[in-house]
Amino acid sequence: MLPITEKAIRAAFVNASRKEVSDITLPTGFDALDWDALDYLGWRDPKIGRRAYAIVPDGDALVGLLFRQADGGTRTRPQCAWCQDVRLPNDVLFYSARRSGASGRNGNTVGTLVCADFQCSANVRNPPPPAYLGFDVEAARQERIVSLRQRAAAFARDVRGA
Ligand SMILES: [Zn+2]
Repeated sequence: MLPITEKAIRAAFVNASRKEVSDITLPTGFDALDWDALDYLGWRDPKIGRRAYAIVPDGDALVGLLFRQADGGTRTRPQCAWCQDVRLPNDVLFYSARRSGASGRNGNTVGTLVCADFQCSANVRNPPPPAYLGFDVEAARQERIVSLRQRAAAFARDVRGA
């Protein structure tokens, strides 16, 4: 994704109150992020427990999502719904996002299983194991990057009710 400023991040949220947006702490190392290696920016709030965020590009727009980590755990190690990495390289958590506007104020949420520390972009950039002779690893890698972007954007549209 293209580099974005703190101001753009705070202006992007579609499901957070003004107070929640002002309470956001940026991710550690924000000034040194490798934006080329990110399809979306996701992080857990370093100061507020169970709070996380994602800034998802959708076309020309940036959609900021505020998440709450759901209570309880899962029995089996789940797969991330966004990067769908079958190697299960990291913990995956159930995060819920309030819907935009009146719907969200009435308590409606959308949930998804996502990599606990939003490692999806790194996961899809790991070359997949060659499945058979002549398997085009680079093409498969590019396809996974595109799919991740589409799934994240689709989730963002769901939250906005678009
Ligand atoms: Zn993931």
